[in-house]
Amino acid sequence: MGGRDTDIVLLDENGIRCDGRKVNETRKVTIKAGVLKNANGSAYIEFGDNKILVGVYGPRDVHPKHMSDTDTGILRCRYHMAPFSVGERKNPAPSRREVEISKVIKEALEPAVMLKEFPRTAVDVFMEVLQADGGTRCAALTGASVALADAGIPMRDLVAGCAAGKAADAVILDVNNEEDQAGQADLPIGYMPNLKKITLLQLDGILTPEEYKQCIEIGIDGCNQVYEIQKKALQDKFFANGEKQ
Ligand code: ADP
Repeated sequence: MGGRDTDIVLLDENGIRCDGRKVNETRKVTIKAGVLKNANGSAYIEFGDNKILVGVYGPRDVHPKHMSDTDTGILRCRYHMAPFSVGERKNPAPSRREVEISKVIKEALEPAVMLKEFPRTAVDVFMEVLQADGGTRCAALTGASVALADAGIPMRDLVAGCAAGKAADAVILDVNNEEDQAGQADLPIGYMPNLKKITLLQLDGILTPEEYKQCIEIGIDGCNQVYEIQKKALQDKFFANGEKQ
């Protein structure tokens, strides 16, 4: 971040990015729901070269009991990067970054999950990043909402995640690791496409007001594309014979 010197050409003279994409193109996203037998709900997501496994447990009793709420269920989220998920071995102990990402994902999911229906209980969401390549919080959020739906947790909407940003002075969709490191801004968005509400919005870097507006616009467009893939993953799991809702 911050426009460091680099040999990578982030955008060539034809407007093509370092991984071959156009500025307004997302990476390839694939999602599979229901991949873990021992979790109540689960999903595996590939978002470009990001690979993330999500397991959901609950609603279940809260331990320790004093953490429970008589009025509502609670959502607990843990985002964790495996030691082999990045080039240099990552210390498996939770870092400040993982604590922050766990918190923002929890807050991004809460508006979608109907927790009031399960007072005194907890829903646990475990996100394991197996391979990271920029944009893991958006990918983990996307996979987590599919895993929650797979667990049968009542939800108002799915939450889809996609980042926008700026690299080589251009506004770009779905920032990859090189663009995150050598680019100028990264703006992850979590969005509920049916309710048209943003539930996660962060900004690392500097944008003009006009660029900021463009980022929100193309970021929401990216979330809408991701949403279609989330729905397809759930349809493939629950309507395996091709029947569609
Ligand atoms: P996000 O993954 O949501 O974009 P960051 O902007 O904090 O979150 O991280 C950007 C990318 O930097 C990650 O996706 C990952 O590829 C890389 N990264 C994060 N933490 C580490 C680490 N400890 N070691 C090496 N690379 C890392």
